[in-house]
Amino acid sequence: MNKETDTTTDVRNVVFVGSGVAGLSAAVYAARADLEPLVLEGPEPGGQLTLTTDIENYLGFPEGVGGMELIQNGKDQAERFGAEFTHGTVENVTLEERPFELELSNGDTLQTRALIVASGASARWVGAENEDELMGYGLSTCATCDGAFHRGDDVLVIGGGDSAMEEALFLAKFADSVTIVHRREELRASEIMADRARDNEAIEFRWNTELEALQGSQEEGITGATLVSHPEGYPLEKTANDPDVMLETIDVGGVFYAIGHTPNTEFLEGTAVDRDKSGYLHTRTDNDGRTTTKTTVEGVFAAGDVADPHYQQAITAAGTGSMAALDAEAYLEALKREEEIALEMPL
Ligand SMILES: Cc1cc2nc3c(=O)[nH]c(=O)nc-3n(C[C@H](O)[C@H](O)[C@H](O)COP(=O)(O)OP(=O)(O)OC[C@H]3O[C@@H](n4cnc5c(N)ncnc54)[C@H](O)[C@@H]3O)c2cc1C
Repeated sequence: MNKETDTTTDVRNVVFVGSGVAGLSAAVYAARADLEPLVLEGPEPGGQLTLTTDIENYLGFPEGVGGMELIQNGKDQAERFGAEFTHGTVENVTLEERPFELELSNGDTLQTRALIVASGASARWVGAENEDELMGYGLSTCATCDGAFHRGDDVLVIGGGDSAMEEALFLAKFADSVTIVHRREELRASEIMADRARDNEAIEFRWNTELEALQGSQEEGITGATLVSHPEGYPLEKTANDPDVMLETIDVGGVFYAIGHTPNTEFLEGTAVDRDKSGYLHTRTDNDGRTTTKTTVEGVFAAGDVADPHYQQAITAAGTGSMAALDAEAYLEALKREEEIALEMPL
């Protein structure tokens, strides 16, 4: 069932913002609990896993599994239990009144008693030539996920913060050489992470350098990278006729972007849902101090990378997806009891 958005005045039990692994896992649980969930697929149906070819660290697939295949299986599984999927991107939400109201980018509105936000966090891309074609084919944004495919390769890490150092240190276990490409002469990374990277013999630095283009194909993967440098840094901002701009194409077998992620939470701006300074959602602990997926607005839950700046793995996203569905189910049960009690009250 994959319909165009149906503008309806019916109030849904639960709507999921996002159809990545977190949204799908939540949909399986909610559908099996007869909550008739609606999944809004958003701008990237299936989420980030659709950008990758092989996943080797997701439990249950000893030979690995393709990203598309894993997502399609998850969608089939959720649909089997009655989850409904629709194209739709949330632009605005009104959470002050019950039921909640969602406004989609095509102008449709939806009402729901519970909301699960599973809208992910998008890795920032640098804008190099050919990156669209080669993402998932030697170009990656996740060393933990794809590092092991680069045994014996020369690889580049683009970035200068802690996450770039972390990615480089991880990749140094597999790759022949790791070169950190940074557009300035100073790192943004903490001293301790920078020292670890500097002390690792497999890691080199290219200062005042940026990635301009990637070479390769989906069949053979990445074969090379064109780097541009300038002694004053930020070379891509310099004009082409600046005599100090240097271009160089080098052989590499892999490139990793490590310039951060942006959580997809703009549509929650101005609401009482708490976010950290980067925009990641805060979740609350319960009265016993245990982790939940509840946000600071009752009835709104968060799952997957959108609330997790740290782990950002498919299996952790799926895990929190199931938690969010269970938390939403308990919330809806309590809401129903409250409504029944209110109806029984003498006027
Ligand atoms: C190239 C690559 C390779 C990876 N490889 C691995 C791997 O091998 N193993 C591993 O464990 N992890 C891997 N990861 C990480 C993994 O993909 C993520 O941790 C996981 O996809 C997070 O799932 P999610 O559901 O939280 O978010 P996402 O997968 O990011 O999904 C977010 C969903 O929200 C939707 N959305 C966003 N905004 C809106 C909106 N306003 N309205 C409606 N919908 C919206 C999007 O359309 C999308 O469907 C990889 C990531 C990348 C990029």
